[in-house]
Amino acid sequence: MSVASFPKMVDPLKMVDQRVDLQGWILLKQLDRVQDYLLDNSGAVEVKLRFDKDEMGVRFIAGVINAKVSMQCQRCLQAVEVKVNSDLSLGIVFSEDAAKNLPGYYDPLLSHESALDLWKMVEEEMILGLPIAAVHQEGECEFIAGFGDCTDETERLGEKPANPFQILQQLKDKN
Ligand SMILES: [Zn+2]
Repeated sequence: MSVASFPKMVDPLKMVDQRVDLQGWILLKQLDRVQDYLLDNSGAVEVKLRFDKDEMGVRFIAGVINAKVSMQCQRCLQAVEVKVNSDLSLGIVFSEDAAKNLPGYYDPLLSHESALDLWKMVEEEMILGLPIAAVHQEGECEFIAGFGDCTDETERLGEKPANPFQILQQLKDKN
């Protein structure tokens, strides 16, 4: 895989004016936050972005993010390959009010300044695209059925599930 580096900081409005298409790869090891969810940080994310303006004059960034990452299977604790395919469609706005008026197919991207961190944006989209709990498909998992399930495990360790109301109470007590 040839990895052409993907630009990090861009001026989104300038990119829109020039109708730029960007395509490239960001190495996973360059994305700090997403690594917390992964077993290893080898590999890269493929990113394709288009900066343009629609017929209503909304400046947008549309694109796709593709990656294959390694997560821990929550049943057998071995590595499981997870594919991330995220579409993104961001409408660039300059205020919260403008964000509310965006057509529903855009997610608002609030632009306060002329610099947008594309790596951070891709990283956030990637995290949203990851499963909350990765598991192997049936037949590929090394988990031995009948050995016990999560509920048994919890009881054996003497842990009780947290009561949400207790947590609420704790939060209230702090105030
Ligand atoms: Zn598994």
